[in-house]
Parts: sequence; structure tokens; C-alpha cells
Amino acid sequence: MLIVYPDYYKEFSCVAGACEDTCCAGWEIVIDAQSLKKYHESKTFRKRLLRDIKWRKGTFRQCKDGRCAFLREDGLCEMYRQMGADSLCKTCRTYPRHIEEFENVREYTLSVSCPYVARLLLNRQTPVTFLEEEREMTKSECYESFDYFLYGSLLDARTEMIRILQNRELRIEERLLLVLGIAHDIERRYRQNRLGETTEVLERAKKESSLYTVRKCLEQWSGASRRRYAIAKKHFERLCELERLREDWDQVLIDTQMLLYVQGANAYRSLQQEFREWTKAQAPWLDIQIEQLAVYFISTYFAGAVYDGRIYGKVDTMVAYLALIYEICVARWLKNEKMLEQEDVIEVVYRFSREIEHSDENLEQMECALWWRLSELTE
Ligand code: SF4
Repeated sequence: MLIVYPDYYKEFSCVAGACEDTCCAGWEIVIDAQSLKKYHESKTFRKRLLRDIKWRKGTFRQCKDGRCAFLREDGLCEMYRQMGADSLCKTCRTYPRHIEEFENVREYTLSVSCPYVARLLLNRQTPVTFLEEEREMTKSECYESFDYFLYGSLLDARTEMIRILQNRELRIEERLLLVLGIAHDIERRYRQNRLGETTEVLERAKKESSLYTVRKCLEQWSGASRRRYAIAKKHFERLCELERLREDWDQVLIDTQMLLYVQGANAYRSLQQEFREWTKAQAPWLDIQIEQLAVYFISTYFAGAVYDGRIYGKVDTMVAYLALIYEICVARWLKNEKMLEQEDVIEVVYRFSREIEHSDENLEQMECALWWRLSELTE
């Protein structure tokens, strides 16, 4: 089997007790059937296991403050201490690793919902690369009706998209609009049974004329301040409608709404302009962080379109994630008396990811919504 992973994958190691926002609190940890059986049959640590597992639900009990009942005051896991690393359930053993499976290919990523991973990715200057290795696997799943042709086209498109996203000679907005255009054109061809034209689509995206079109769109878009305000406000309202995983996320949403949208379109436009100028002078690293995140979302989710055909949806959602994170950062900058550190962005990103990427319901809602109609951007 072919194993694919980003070049920083092996640098991860959990900082456990030293973690500023442990993953063992704030959400219910679901125990896999095998581990549940093991806990049920365990002779050691029996009293605690019986008491601190919700057996019917198959989750660990949470204390009033939302911490896992096995999490000690010092941030270490009591079950790990008493029963060893092998005792951990699949969720605890795997997190923050994320696995996507395709026929004979397994892709690993690290979720940016872990502060350590977010820091690893967002503090890095150089473009991320992806490594591959062949491994013997005892168990390989067989996927009925796996669409190899679509999968191959998606991989070609993903490689080209990552190349564009990492082209620092272009502005980040240009790169995002170019990849949005590629996804749009490939999905249209897929629906019209013309997927064989994928190479043409990718070749066309490399031409100067595509860049020229993108620049013209962005120029018009930057002049359409009322429309930009209305769309940003509407998008943020959608984010607020999603399921909440942690109560303290509410404050982030309320702050952003109050600081950015209450005073209307003109105030919003000046604020965005001021922030953009400030980042150019004081925080040029922000564009690199956006690039790293864009590559993270595309590499994690795009090939999954082989199962649902939502080719445009994957990229559309990625741009929506970035735009929403950006908005929260603008609000954070304003709240911090017009200051934003790399650490602020890291915090926004890991908290955003916890809310969205760890709720199947939220992920589905984000992906099913149409965020950017290309016609709306190019009107
Ligand atoms: S969030 Fe990451 S660093 Fe923190 S305890 Fe969990 S895995 Fe470890």
C-alpha cells in the first residue's frame, strides 16, 4: 500500500501535561467497540473503569468542567499511567492523526485542532511537501466501484492546485481564485462526462490569460464593498448557526460579529483596508500561514471527492474556512488594540478546527453550503 504524509508528520509528539488546551477536555471521546470490550474484561483498574465509562453510550465520562474523567490535574492520563499506552482507545491512540483511505493508498495528515500541530504548520516558512512510501499491509480494504478515472483526475488537479497555492510570486487571493476556477471547471466536466479534458483545464490555468481574468475579477471584487460586506456577514451568520462543541467558542463568534458587522458596510470596508495595510507592514507572515492552511485543507479533503463527486464543494469550503478564520483574526486584531501575533492566529485556527473538523454535522453543513458562486465574484 502507498502511504502519503506531509513532511512535518513525523515531527509531531504530544506534549501531554504541557499542552495549553488539552484534547482530553471539551468534547466527548467515543470509545471503539474493541477497546470497550477490553475495558469491560479488564481486571486491573476495574473500579475506575466501571465508574468513569458511560457503558451504554460508549464514551468516557466527563467532569463538570468538560474534562475527561481520566485526565489528572497535571494534564496526564490516569488510564495511561495505570494500564499503559496499549490501553488507550482508538480515538486517543490516533488523535491528532487523520487518515483518508483510497484503494491501495492511505493518506495521513495531522489535524490542526491540536495546538502543537497548528504551531508546527503555521510557524513554518517553507512550503510543505508530501512524502510517499510503500508499506506491506496485512489488511487492505477493497472498495467496490471505486472510480479510478475520477481519482486519477483529482490527484492531478490536487498536485496542480498545491503548486499554485505555493506559488509565492502571486498574491494569495489570486492563488485561491485560480484553484477555485480549476475545481469549478473540473466539476462541470465531470458532470458532463468530459473528465478526459482535465489536463486541458489544468494547462489553461497555467496560462497568463487565466491570471489576467483572475486579476480583473479581484479588481472588480475589491471595488464592490457593499457586496463584499453583505457576503462576509452572511457567511459569518452561517458559521454561527452551526453546532457548538465548546461553550467558549460563543464568545469568539459574538466578538467577531460585534466588531466587524454591526457598524455597516463603510466601517467594514475601512477596517478591512486598514488591516490589510497593517499586515503588509507588520505581519507579512500572515499570507504564508494562509497558504499553509490552504494546502492543509486541500491535501486533507480534496481527493475525498472521489466518493461524493463534490469537487467544487471541497475547494469552495476550503476558501470559506480561510475567509472565516481571516475574519476572526481581523476581529482579534481590533480587540488587541490593532495587534496580531502569529500565536493569535494559531489559537484561532486550532479552536476553529475543533469546532468544525470534529463535528460530522458541521463538516457536512459546511461542505453542502455553496459559499462562493463564481458568477457572484466575477459579476
Ligand atoms: S491537543 Fe495535541 S499536544 Fe495537546 S494533549 Fe492533545 S494531542 Fe497532545
